[in-house]
Amino acid sequence: MGTIRELYTQVIMDHCQRPRNKGELGNADLKEHLLNPLCGDEVTVYAVFDGGKVADARFEGRGCSISQASASMMTERLAGKSREEAKKEIDDFKAMMVGEREFPETEDLAALQGVIRYPSRIKCAVLAWTAFGNGLDGGDGS
Ligand code: ZN
Repeated sequence: MGTIRELYTQVIMDHCQRPRNKGELGNADLKEHLLNPLCGDEVTVYAVFDGGKVADARFEGRGCSISQASASMMTERLAGKSREEAKKEIDDFKAMMVGEREFPETEDLAALQGVIRYPSRIKCAVLAWTAFGNGLDGGDGS
């Protein structure tokens, strides 16, 4: 199990050091900022929709490695998804983080499964996803 844990740590560190889709998105249809006061994490998520699908998803933020890596993974996960599909991805991820759903073993997200043993860190992992979900619920972008 040691090697799997090391692999997961490497995946998380890779997303922190080389975040995917990081940066502000001008003219975003969806923009949502969220804080995690427990840890001091901060994230803003952005998305542009085209033909009802996420054409571009980005994030900005600062905070612990789990919050930033999870945001980076989320932008990859939600790219190309419709609003309904994105909502389902977010719900599924939240279910994974409370142990109600299996993690996809072959994907980067699996690296976050160790976090579920640390309840205080779960908020870090779901921060960006919750922000995106709030944007989907409240935003009126097309
Ligand atoms: Zn955190």
